[in-house]
Amino acid sequence: MPFTKLGLSDPLLRAIAEAGYTTPSPIQLQAIPAVLNGHDLLAAAQTGTGKTAGFALPILQRLSHKHYSSNRPIRVLILTPTRELAAQVGESVSKYGEHLHPRLKTEVVFGGVKINPQMMRLRGGVDVLVATPGRLLDLVNQNAIKLDQVETLVLDEADRMLDMGFIRDIRKIIALLPKKRQNLLFSATFSEDIRQLTTGLLVNPIKIEVAARNTAAETVEQVAYLCNKANKADLLCHLIKVNEWRQVLVFTSTKHGANRLTDKLNKLDIKAAAIHGNKSQGARTSALAGFKAGEIRVLVATDVAARGIDINLLPHVVNYELPRAPADYVHRIGRTGRAGEEGQAVSLVSHDEVSALRLIEKLMNKPIKREQIEGFEQAAVAPPMPPEPPRGPRPVRNQPRKTAAAPKTEHKPRRRSSV
Ligand code: AMP
Repeated sequence: MPFTKLGLSDPLLRAIAEAGYTTPSPIQLQAIPAVLNGHDLLAAAQTGTGKTAGFALPILQRLSHKHYSSNRPIRVLILTPTRELAAQVGESVSKYGEHLHPRLKTEVVFGGVKINPQMMRLRGGVDVLVATPGRLLDLVNQNAIKLDQVETLVLDEADRMLDMGFIRDIRKIIALLPKKRQNLLFSATFSEDIRQLTTGLLVNPIKIEVAARNTAAETVEQVAYLCNKANKADLLCHLIKVNEWRQVLVFTSTKHGANRLTDKLNKLDIKAAAIHGNKSQGARTSALAGFKAGEIRVLVATDVAARGIDINLLPHVVNYELPRAPADYVHRIGRTGRAGEEGQAVSLVSHDEVSALRLIEKLMNKPIKREQIEGFEQAAVAPPMPPEPPRGPRPVRNQPRKTAAAPKTEHKPRRRSSV
């Protein structure tokens, strides 16, 4: 079924065409009519399925029926677990609503950056607010926003928000909303916690389930290049150059490893940038923007930093190191081959990672092709690694940690502190 049959207005169809979408993804086929009809939604769908357009398009259409000339109240609230996801959802909503008249105003707020500029931007009112929970409550507490006119609440990646310890914040936020509203909940998994959250939140929801990432991953071509640990950086450069890869997302297991690899690539004239937890929000945003714009060829990321990254049709993902948890492999390669497009996931596998590779194959129930590249073959026995260069002194903090006042920002993820 084409987009034109889903009941969307012409300005939205125009934006869809400009985004290059020709056919709706399965979740869009189900979610768009349901949301247009005002139903609550319980959707089992992960990032990569096209879920953002699945909720944003019908929400925009419903909003555009009624306009507030001044003092726009927040009518749609979209909660996301991470700043990156918030930024991307905000970008998508603005893009899809580009041709609506009069235009709707969308703003994005998240922690880890100064609150004042966000307060200024919210002053004239906004129609759609995309927010991470902690910062949203900060803004409420500072009287910068009111949530009493919200018509639609979206909980995006609800399972991850709970994983990150946001449940109390979410409950506080829900208590501030009008009782009568539309609720849309998206989650990749349905744990007991999610079930508890949905009870009492959703009213007769339409339930939607689309293929889990494990299945989507089957459209991705996967290959493992067996190599020696010490040759990985050179092998990666070789692959990028020989295959003329233009846009590659590379996963490393540590922040330090990400920095070292980025330096090495840049020295070899392959424009690269790293994103990880030690980078400021500004540095992360500009690295991501540069990558999307094609100015940065290789984005080197750790798992945590990469969560929520949405790059349209990312063609290549490289596991420079295999993740410790096999499920993370599936998440990583889900960054490529999105919405039915083909993608390629390459893993550089050294001697010590062969057992991790087997566990991944077991999880996916599918063998991964093993290959070797001439000149970079894996030795029969693992050669000893050269000693690591010294890391240099640790940066000195402005204030001793113990006495520093805790900044009022987002909660620290509970179980993702290592990267
Ligand atoms: P999401 O799951 O919302 O993060 O979307 C995943 C990616 O698929 C995004 O980069 C979208 O731009 C893209 N996308 C969404 N819907 C479609 C569609 N119908 N056809 C092609 N690409 C799409």
